Amino acid sequence: MNQENLSSSKENSSVMLLTAQNLIKKAGKILGLSDEKIKEVIIPDRVIEVKIPVRMKNGLLRVFRGFRSQHNNVLGPYKGGIRFHPQVNREEVIALSTLMTLKCSVAGLPFGGGKGGVVVNPRELNPEELEQLSRGYARAISEYIGEWKDIPAPDVNTDSRIMSWMLDEYEKIIKRKSPSAFTGKPINRGGSLGRTEATGRGGVISLLTLLEYLENKKYNTVAIQGYGNVGYHFAKIAQEKGFKIVAVSDSKGGIYNADGLDVVAVKEHKNKTGSVKGFPGAKDISNEELLTSEVDILVPAALENVITDKNAADIRAKIIVEMANGPITEKAYSILQRRGIITIPDIVANSGGVIVSYFEWAQGLSGYWWTEEEVNRKLEKQIKNSFVWVYRFSQDNDIDLKDAAVAVALRRIVEAQ
Ligand code: NAD
Repeated sequence: MNQENLSSSKENSSVMLLTAQNLIKKAGKILGLSDEKIKEVIIPDRVIEVKIPVRMKNGLLRVFRGFRSQHNNVLGPYKGGIRFHPQVNREEVIALSTLMTLKCSVAGLPFGGGKGGVVVNPRELNPEELEQLSRGYARAISEYIGEWKDIPAPDVNTDSRIMSWMLDEYEKIIKRKSPSAFTGKPINRGGSLGRTEATGRGGVISLLTLLEYLENKKYNTVAIQGYGNVGYHFAKIAQEKGFKIVAVSDSKGGIYNADGLDVVAVKEHKNKTGSVKGFPGAKDISNEELLTSEVDILVPAALENVITDKNAADIRAKIIVEMANGPITEKAYSILQRRGIITIPDIVANSGGVIVSYFEWAQGLSGYWWTEEEVNRKLEKQIKNSFVWVYRFSQDNDIDLKDAAVAVALRRIVEAQ
């Protein structure tokens, strides 16, 4: 994943952490849990802080700071990505690991929540330095990870190549093969087929499942913010399922065509020119215009906090599918709720990635590799089940899908304690 404008700072991270904790507190009240019990779930099990010295090409030694937050492992080993970004900090990894605990639980996976990061701008490093940093981080956290302890994966600015370096370093330390200690690996190193498309695919399945409940076949037009891994695959799979993608965007701006866009051709245009902008036959629009465009379904798939109290009143979509993590602020959420806009929460909508990571882990443990068809079929079943639990809980308790998702997740954790 390579996210150019990750709008995160220490202040933002504290807000993110508080938001995650508030979600748990609210869900705890819905479930009738005591304050003590809620506090026990909120506090992370462990936050590891490490230093990673790297000899740079210019001969000087640079010392990087790395983190791994292991939030909760009641349901199974910790699971979560590692990001390389200058704004990584302690609060951020704790917040993200808390969300991973909820995401794994609501998806019905045998995993807890973890998240790691290194404070670095990877674009300033050459490939050799990046490899040394990745190996150094794996060495520094090696005693805390493993297929039955904590299983890292890619996140912002890390990818399958970096997972491969980290796994190699880890296997040298433990002196045996251990493919399931990391997920998001290249296919020839034990990666799973179907992983690249999994998050987008899962989002489309959750949308289709919601529409089955709404018994409404008329919701058809879609606008997608972000045309990276998640946004593009969501667009492609949604188009295959009959949705009309009328607007998409990236960090440079967006495009709109009321008759629908050819999403594969848009991707080719972006690969050639660096942006979706200027796509022949479409009108250029701003990201703000995309968010408030006249569509049935809005899919924020780029950044957090893009729907705020400033634009929530202008959103015209009937359904929002949260494919990015936390794209709607708390205040905006209340406005959307009052306006009757239905939101499929991030911990359900974008859980396809971690679900296929679970499949990768299981395949590695058994040494038996599945076909892409099997992966996709199992993903569909897993995410549909998760959506159905959440939807029923929301109906039974007359609460929205977000609160229901967190309550379902929390209930599974406290029942297992
Ligand atoms: P990516 O880096 O592949 O793509 C991000 C896209 O967002 C790019 O097209 C980029 O141009 C665009 N973007 C960046 N800044 C923007 C801005 N200011 N306005 C509009 N667009 C902007 O990342 P991704 O893997 O597609 O992830 C997107 C989101 O989904 C992130 O929030 C990520 O945390 C979340 N997510 C990803 C996965 C996964 O499996 N990749 C899983 C769960 C959640």
